[in-house]
Amino acid sequence: MKTLVSRRTFFHLAGAAGLIASPALIGCAERLAVPALKRDPFSLGVAAGEPSADGFVLWTRLAPDPLSQDPATPGGMTGGPVQVAYEIATDPQMRQIARKGTATAEPGFAWSVHAEIAGLQPGRPYWYRFLLGDAASRVGRVATTPAAGAALDRLKFGFVSCANYELGYFSAYRHLADENPDLVVFLGDYIYEDAKQRRGAIREHSDGATASTLSGYRNRYAQYRLDPDLQRLHAEVPALMTWDDHEVQNDYAGQWSQSFDEPAKFLERRAAAYRAYYEHMPLRPSRALPQGPNLRLHERFRFGDLAEFSVLDGRQYRSKEACYSRPNKGGGHIETADSCADLQDPTRSVLGPQQEAWLYDGFSRATARWNVIAQDQLVAELKERQKDGTIGYWTEDWNGYPPSRKRLLTEIRDRKLANPVVIGGDIHSFWTNDLKVDFDDPKSPIVATEFVCTSITSHGPPHDTFAAWLPDNPHVKFFESRKRGYSLVDLTRNRMTTHYRAVSEVTDPQATVSTLKSFVVESGKPGAQSA
Ligand code: FE
Ligand code: CA
Repeated sequence: MKTLVSRRTFFHLAGAAGLIASPALIGCAERLAVPALKRDPFSLGVAAGEPSADGFVLWTRLAPDPLSQDPATPGGMTGGPVQVAYEIATDPQMRQIARKGTATAEPGFAWSVHAEIAGLQPGRPYWYRFLLGDAASRVGRVATTPAAGAALDRLKFGFVSCANYELGYFSAYRHLADENPDLVVFLGDYIYEDAKQRRGAIREHSDGATASTLSGYRNRYAQYRLDPDLQRLHAEVPALMTWDDHEVQNDYAGQWSQSFDEPAKFLERRAAAYRAYYEHMPLRPSRALPQGPNLRLHERFRFGDLAEFSVLDGRQYRSKEACYSRPNKGGGHIETADSCADLQDPTRSVLGPQQEAWLYDGFSRATARWNVIAQDQLVAELKERQKDGTIGYWTEDWNGYPPSRKRLLTEIRDRKLANPVVIGGDIHSFWTNDLKVDFDDPKSPIVATEFVCTSITSHGPPHDTFAAWLPDNPHVKFFESRKRGYSLVDLTRNRMTTHYRAVSEVTDPQATVSTLKSFVVESGKPGAQSA
């Protein structure tokens, strides 16, 4: 059986090499003129992402003093650009070198490195590391995808969202790394921009202040990447990335902050946040290099003939929140269909018209057996019955943009997208849903299956309140908000099996993991069945 599943043992070998290599270890590496660094420049680890059939992007960032509070010396670095060497090998001991090169760490991008690699063999694992003077990074693992259209029988991937550093340890990331998946998809709220605002905090964001400047966002990402569980997950598993709101600001939409600041002012903040995001993520610079407040994030990724992932951007192009009624206090709110005409305005969009056109065009050309739509939020309709008996809708996810959702589901149906599965996060709870063009018509066929992962650490919404709404939402097959964790998918030609994995306790750095529930989608039959 052709699979991308790798061997686990190499990390016990490669990881043991340590962060600062002995001269013997890098004896064959190029010697480069480097700034004097008293401390490990690779403190933030390594990451790989966006695999293709002949390459991927490799990431690191030079940060000998990763939480430097001086905006003039991000990560403790000063001076000009630095050439960083990389090695890519076909073995975890880094003996069989397939590629060597250098990449430039630019001061303007906080000395981050994004090395786009091409020309490698399809469908095989590689190991890599960065070298600078006498320092070597830890060894990371990545894999190229099978050649376009080539047979692939199995893909194992995790998807995750909502990791508030202050609210818990990242045991979920550790356990996901232990599962040895081929891929991890980050669906947003990778950081939280705020600080000390939530009950139950067990550790603190390092500066104790809300991130709103380039320096603030940089340090937030650096602190998260110092977490050993997250750092290990990135080193061992290649990533696809999208964001939600907290990478910039709670509940923002496009150019609108949650408090509806002057857009030009908010876009300055968004530019800083997007730049810091790019600086810390394994994103291909050929596509995703930020330009002011803009960053092209959405992209398609193919894994042989088995799966295509359409990774969407649900924030950058989003229309203004519906029926905003609290001018000095932002955030999502509840509206009823009668009280809020915006909810039926077809010009409003979660994705924006250009991304919608790009997505639907991709549906027409898709050839993979399974099509995963990876985005940040709950797509399914959620009727929230209020105390007075009326039905309310949350304005801050797809429920605030019903015509936009209907377009998405209609296009999936009409363009006959094969085995469509939507994955999402944001709502800090597990959901399994049937997606329909018309949720109010019991005879409306299921056109796609939705799985939503719970948070890594962030608090879940009140379980009993949400559970009481489920009779009004028969398309919801499963809901659980009392558990933190991640989702793990075993995808084969004939079935997709999704496991909801729950950690025992986020306040325990040694938390254990168990399977809460599993669902199966059979090829050709949208809608999940309890496994
Ligand atoms: Fe969140
Ligand atoms: Ca969110």
